[in-house]
Amino acid sequence: MGRLDGKVVVLSAAAQGIGKSTALAFAREGAQVIATDINGEKLKELDGTPGIETRVVDVTKQADIEALVSSLDKLDVLFNCAGFVHHGTILDCKEEEWDFAFNLNVKSMFLMCKAVIPKMQAGGGGSIINMSSVASSIKGAPVRFVYGATKAAVIGLTKSIAADFAAQGIRCNAICPGTVDTPSLRDRLRALGDEEEVLKTFVARQKMGRLGTAEEIAALCVYLASDESCYTTGTECVIDGGWSV
Ligand code: NAD
Repeated sequence: MGRLDGKVVVLSAAAQGIGKSTALAFAREGAQVIATDINGEKLKELDGTPGIETRVVDVTKQADIEALVSSLDKLDVLFNCAGFVHHGTILDCKEEEWDFAFNLNVKSMFLMCKAVIPKMQAGGGGSIINMSSVASSIKGAPVRFVYGATKAAVIGLTKSIAADFAAQGIRCNAICPGTVDTPSLRDRLRALGDEEEVLKTFVARQKMGRLGTAEEIAALCVYLASDESCYTTGTECVIDGGWSV
């Protein structure tokens, strides 16, 4: 028996990192997974995995979202994972970077949630998981200005949806990882200089002396997607190895 048997799950950003690990974890627990990403080439790595169907979806495009959601008979779980990390303070942040970050990290969640909630209402409930971060309203992380602002907005969006739809059996929670070792994190390390040296500075700020793994974040997503978490809504689930303590 899988913990997600019989559940239909949609997630974004499934081509790599946390999204990919979570798609695999959802499928291992028996879910029927629709794994989406804008990067069709990388997404192909999931093709052939039992329980996973892949679709190319740009979560900033309403037409893509409508096509995806209208093709589903039912939907039990939505994991909004897509997001982008800009480096810098407010003084570094260009207006177009602000707009890009809010469009991808926040507006896409508005569009996705608005599209799926009627489907969840028709099915008698559901679970929405929104990717936030500890770098948000939880912690002011240096040189994460616009990223932190977007991820704080995700927490507000999440709580608002949770309050409006709890009585209809639709739960909505945010997850707030610390620093997780993913391909995009590696890109950010390389952009800052010698990858291994910069990695040491990232690890040095971790109380556990290591970064998180995508599989550890996926385990939290499985819990929030499953009925085990049926009394949990509107929360900001911190999973950061103690970084924010
Ligand atoms: P990543 O950055 O390595 O991959 C992101 C994926 O999103 C890519 O496959 C990319 O193709 C996809 N994507 C980009 N734009 C898209 C769009 N418009 N539509 C659909 N897909 C799109 O992934 P990651 O590091 O695992 O991060 C995933 C999420 O977790 C992000 O929201 C990120 O902010 C958040 N997060 C990451 C960390 C970390 O340390 N890695 C920590 C906290 C939160």
